[in-house]
Amino acid sequence: MSTTQTPHIALFPGAEMGHLMPVLRLATMLAKRNCIVTVITAHPTVSNAESDQISLFFRHNPEINHLILRLNPSSQQEDSTLAAPFFLQFDLINQSIHLLRPLLSSSSPPFSAMFVDFFLVAKTAPIAKELHLPIYVVSTTSVEATSLMAYFPVLTSNWTEFNNASTEIKIPGLPPMAMSSLPQALLDPGNLFTLTTIMNSQALSKADGILTNTFEYVQASTLCTLNKARVTASLPPILPVGPLEPYHIPQDRDNRYRSWLENQPSQSVVYISFGSRTAISRDQVQELERGLEKAGRRFCWNLKTSIVDKDDREDVKDILSNLFLERTKNKGMIIRGWTDQQEILGHPAIGGFVSHCGWNSVMEAAWQGVPMLAWPQNGDQRLNAKVVEDAGLGLWERNWDWGVGGVVKGDEIERKIVELMTDEKLRERAKKVREEARKAVGSGGSSNRVIKDVINSLILPF
Ligand code: UDP
Ligand code: UDP
Repeated sequence: MSTTQTPHIALFPGAEMGHLMPVLRLATMLAKRNCIVTVITAHPTVSNAESDQISLFFRHNPEINHLILRLNPSSQQEDSTLAAPFFLQFDLINQSIHLLRPLLSSSSPPFSAMFVDFFLVAKTAPIAKELHLPIYVVSTTSVEATSLMAYFPVLTSNWTEFNNASTEIKIPGLPPMAMSSLPQALLDPGNLFTLTTIMNSQALSKADGILTNTFEYVQASTLCTLNKARVTASLPPILPVGPLEPYHIPQDRDNRYRSWLENQPSQSVVYISFGSRTAISRDQVQELERGLEKAGRRFCWNLKTSIVDKDDREDVKDILSNLFLERTKNKGMIIRGWTDQQEILGHPAIGGFVSHCGWNSVMEAAWQGVPMLAWPQNGDQRLNAKVVEDAGLGLWERNWDWGVGGVVKGDEIERKIVELMTDEKLRERAKKVREEARKAVGSGGSSNRVIKDVINSLILPF
């Protein structure tokens, strides 16, 4: 371990934007707090969004070091049970982990700690141990989803019992969790996602803490209970360090939507986005068209119809109906491709956010105080939607279908969008969440204290 007064931290994010962005944000927060920071990224990435973000980030943050773990994609074993390209990338990074140690040990000054993605902890913990480095897990999801993953090996120690479980599961310290809210892949014992989750959950005990992009106000009772009586006795403390502060990178790309937003009245626009890796089906796109048109509100729709951005080649006109485009041309803005969501949510014209509830999106809405309509699509998103509802940040219609094949009707969408955009009490509650978010990372705030304590623990006395 380094003996300097300035800790040198290695950050190792996983695949996909939802796992990269929070780590880059954490990197800038650590650098601002006088740490030496090195981010290790795997190359090549799956999406253009990742490679673009990585090059922009290091160009605009020259004080942060960059190391590249060069993957050999040809060594990947095809797994036909899994259609998620980003998760295959996690697997490939794990298979290539022997490349990490030489990168780490050749670095100067030597490292003081490693902060790694949840899905990489099992393979990186032995390396941290060999190098005598503390290791922290970076969780990119809600405390509820982290707890589920931490407890999952216990829940599934008897798969038959787990599969026959009633409609709820019980995790110590948490209210009962509906089976219908669990990431669906976790119900399949043979799925690579399930196997990887279990492998990494079992390694959590090797970590010194779980850095989590959340703050006390939104998950106070869960955090308190879990840190008093852990989900499992060996679970390290859950350390709320969020909302991870956004960094700004000047964009020279198409800013058609910026000038459009400038011309919209305050809080009049609903922003619709399902994150960076969720493809919306054509049937659902049609119903969303109907719902938006009937709701009659201004909208800005980040339209994504494939999982990986490289495959999103179709023109808007090939996806949306001419009639819809014609009728809504003065009310709506359709975006294709990567946009700075944090910036959009911060625009005064935005009054509501229809979101899949990826955890980063939830924290960004909290940071900006934008009321949400939670519309989970897959993975951890139903667990996150419950947090949104409980924190007063948004509405959640839990009867809406989710997962492959689930289609919500236009009338339903219309009803909830109108509610989202007219509920004044919700707007007030979301504003309060914003205040608390900024307090948490501000001077003396709860998340700020936690992050300082972690940094201080890495400084060794001379
Ligand atoms: N994933 C998957 N099957 C699932 C849930 C997730 O393959 O049922 C993949 C997903 O595509 C992503 C990764 O696992 O690449 C992380 O998923 P998580 O549920 O943790 O969601 P996130 O943290 O990205 O919101
Ligand atoms: N994002 C963005 N522009 C886009 C799509 C996504 O800035 O066009 C960002 C979004 O703000 C968030 C991340 O990508 O920081 C997506 O993570 P999230 O957990 O919300 O969802 P996921 O994509 O992992 O499902």
